[in-house]
This record gives sequence, C-alpha cells and structure tokens, in this order.
Amino acid sequence: MTLDSASAALFDAVVRRNPAEAEFHQAVFEVLEAIQPAVRRDPSLRDAALLERVCEPERQALFRVVWTDDAGRAHVNRGFRVGFSSALGPYKGGLRFHRDVTLGTVKFLAFEQIFKNALTGLGLGAGKGGSDFDPAGRSDAEVMRFCQSFMTELHRHLGPYTDVPAGDIGVGAREIGYLFGQYKRLTNRFDAGTLTGKPTLLGGSPARPEATGYGTVYFLDAVLGAAGTGLDGLTAAVSGSGNVAFHAIAKLRELGARPVTCSDSTGSVHDPAGIDLDVLHEVKNVRRARLTAYAERVPSAQYVAGETPWEVPCDVALPCATQNELDEQAALALTKNGVLAVAEGANMPCTPAAVRVFREAGIALAPGKAANAGGVATSAFEMQQNAARERWSFAETDRRLKETMTAIHTACLTTADDHDVPGDYVAGAAIAGFRTVAEAMSGLGLV
Ligand code: GLU
Repeated sequence: MTLDSASAALFDAVVRRNPAEAEFHQAVFEVLEAIQPAVRRDPSLRDAALLERVCEPERQALFRVVWTDDAGRAHVNRGFRVGFSSALGPYKGGLRFHRDVTLGTVKFLAFEQIFKNALTGLGLGAGKGGSDFDPAGRSDAEVMRFCQSFMTELHRHLGPYTDVPAGDIGVGAREIGYLFGQYKRLTNRFDAGTLTGKPTLLGGSPARPEATGYGTVYFLDAVLGAAGTGLDGLTAAVSGSGNVAFHAIAKLRELGARPVTCSDSTGSVHDPAGIDLDVLHEVKNVRRARLTAYAERVPSAQYVAGETPWEVPCDVALPCATQNELDEQAALALTKNGVLAVAEGANMPCTPAAVRVFREAGIALAPGKAANAGGVATSAFEMQQNAARERWSFAETDRRLKETMTAIHTACLTTADDHDVPGDYVAGAAIAGFRTVAEAMSGLGLV
C-alpha cells in the first residue's frame, strides 16, 4: 500500500516541518497508509483539514530540568510534554525517562496515543512527555529530586481536565508518587486525578501495574479466538523485562501458554522451562539488576548477550520492550519458525519492514495502538475512581479491562472487514481510532 497524492503531500509537509524526528515521521506514515481505505471511500474525512490537524500537536512544552546528585553535583536534563489532541478529553499519556528521549520520540508516542485512546472509548485526549534523564543506577533520593524539579515546571500545564500524565519506560509508581507529591505541594490541592499510575494508597488503581501486559495478552487471546484457537499450550517469545513484559508473561502463564524469553538492552534470556516470575521479580524489581543475574540463578536458562528473542521458535511473539526493536530479519525468522500471531505490548516495536513481512505472510499483527491500550484504559478507570472518590477492587478493574480489550478487538476486526481488508488489525485499529477522533474534531468546529 502507498499514499495517495494528497496524503503524500501531507506527509512531505510533516517531514519538512519536523526535521530529524524519524520516529514521528514513521508513526505518521504508518497511520496515513493504514487509513487509506477509509479516506478513499469517505472523502469527507479530508474536510476542514482534518488530516492536517491530526498530524499537528496542539501544544508542546520543552523545558530545562536542573537537579543535584547525591554528591551535590548539578545536572541539566531536558523535559518534554506534547499535548497532541484534546478532541476527546484531556491530554492523556505517560511520561518516559530514558537517556535516548528526544522531542521526536515524545511526539511519536503522543501521536500514537491519539488513536489508542480513541479506541478505548473512554473520553481521552492524547499527550506524552518525558525526559532524557537516565534513571539507571540513580538512588531513590536522586530520582526524587529529579522528579520534583521536573514537576516544578510541568505542573502549570496539568490538571484533571487539562492534561493527565502517567508512567511509561523508566516511570513507575515510585516516580509517579514523587511527581504527585510535588504537584500537591505546588498546587495546594490533593487533585488525585491529575496523575495516574499512583501508588494505591494515594488513589492509584490496584490493577494499573498489571493492565498493559494483561491487556496485551487479552487482546492476543481474542485474536487467536477469532482464528479458532487459543493460548493454551502455545510457546511465547516475549521481549523486555519491565512492567509490560513482566505482566504479559504472568498472564500468558495463567492462560496456559509457555513464555520462554525476556530481554533487556544488553541481551536476552531463553528459558525453555518457562520464565520464572519470582526470580524475574527479584532480579529486576528488587535488585534492579541486569538479566545476566536471572541466568545465574536458573539452571535451565541461557543468557545470550547482544541478541533479541526472535530467533527462538515460538507460536506467538510479544514485543514488549521499545520502538523498532523487531526488524525485518527478526520478522523473517519468526515467520520461518511458523509464528501464528504477533501482539505489540510496546509502542511501535515492529519496524515498517517487519510489518510488511508479517502482512505479506498473512500473520495476524495486533498493533500497539490496540493491543497495549489496556494501560491507558485502566488509567481512565483510575480517573473515574478519583473523581467519584471510589475504590474498585482488583477483580472489578480486571473485569472491566478484559471487557475493554474485547471491545477494542471487535472494533478493529469489524472496521477492517467493513473496509475490505479483513483480518488487517493495523488498518482496523488506525481507521477506527481516526474515525472517532475525526468525528469529535468535526463536532468541535475549527479549533
Ligand atoms: N504509557 C502508557 C501508554 O503507552 C500509558 C499511558 C497512560 O496510562 O496514560 O499507553
């Protein structure tokens, strides 16, 4: 599939106006390409510069963050917050702390969030933020000082009806707690609904840590169900070892699959006996150590430095690490090994060439916009609880999460069918998300 001339001209303009932001260009191209069947059929989707507007962030904050380490040395980082679309609700999306974060990274993530958040049907706009702060090896006190300095600037842009950040890579309940503490101090309000992913005592949803990984597996289960199979007895290759990967592995095990891999930025673990969650928890969450420590502890496991998990024979693959982690060569290896379906727990983990390989081989590919929407959906549940001063149980939240993932799966499948691209989840997700946000934008007039 390629772009029609109007979409190609728009894409060229996006590249020209956002120079050197390759990830953002990639995300925009992918959506413009995926929604071609819809804009071809319904020219009104081009009215009132809808496409141009959806590619232009409503606002962007870029700021300096100064903080001191435990030795008293001063450091300077960059903070970002991109509010991409508020057509459906307040800007909503996580914060990423990682050394490689640039404005282009944040913009691509915020752009993805538009369609993902629309798919949840929960009244969420889209944003994303973060910093090039590297939390690796930093003490609790250093992380706290960084978070406080970051929030001192960011707080003026936030609010439960304005912009509601959450976590992402490098930002979990600890960081959200520190950020919320500083927000509360600066605003003199216990406005819990301004941040999601909070520790439960501070109003966090008990299932928010699990939600993205669990949701990805619920979505994958629905994909397999639509093809007349299920997860029971399947071998799964999972990448990553953070929050998303950990809970995806847990849910895969619970549903009878055998997840045999996980990875970090330096290599991957292959454990044919199935990843041991207790050991993984102890290595990653308690000791904050590298995965080499997993292989030292578990006799059946092997650690392969510098390798991704995609050469390992598997029935399903779940890239849950980061963008562009699964390339063409990996997609070819998975295809050769007979992979049945791929579910993206991370945002944009498959390169465009890898997506093409899966498409041409007819392998079901559940894009992050749909498959990992369970995280932000559960954030919306957290906002609901905070607004109503309620606390839902884990079981109730998990039930609603599953219901939401099943509904998103159905929406993707029926939308793909309606547009004569049956089984194409990439097109189904982008078209369903875009149609929803386009309708909201039309209703709001030219703003
Ligand atoms: N960072 C997550 C995502 O990629 C969650 C965002 C949120 O909960 O607001 O969707």
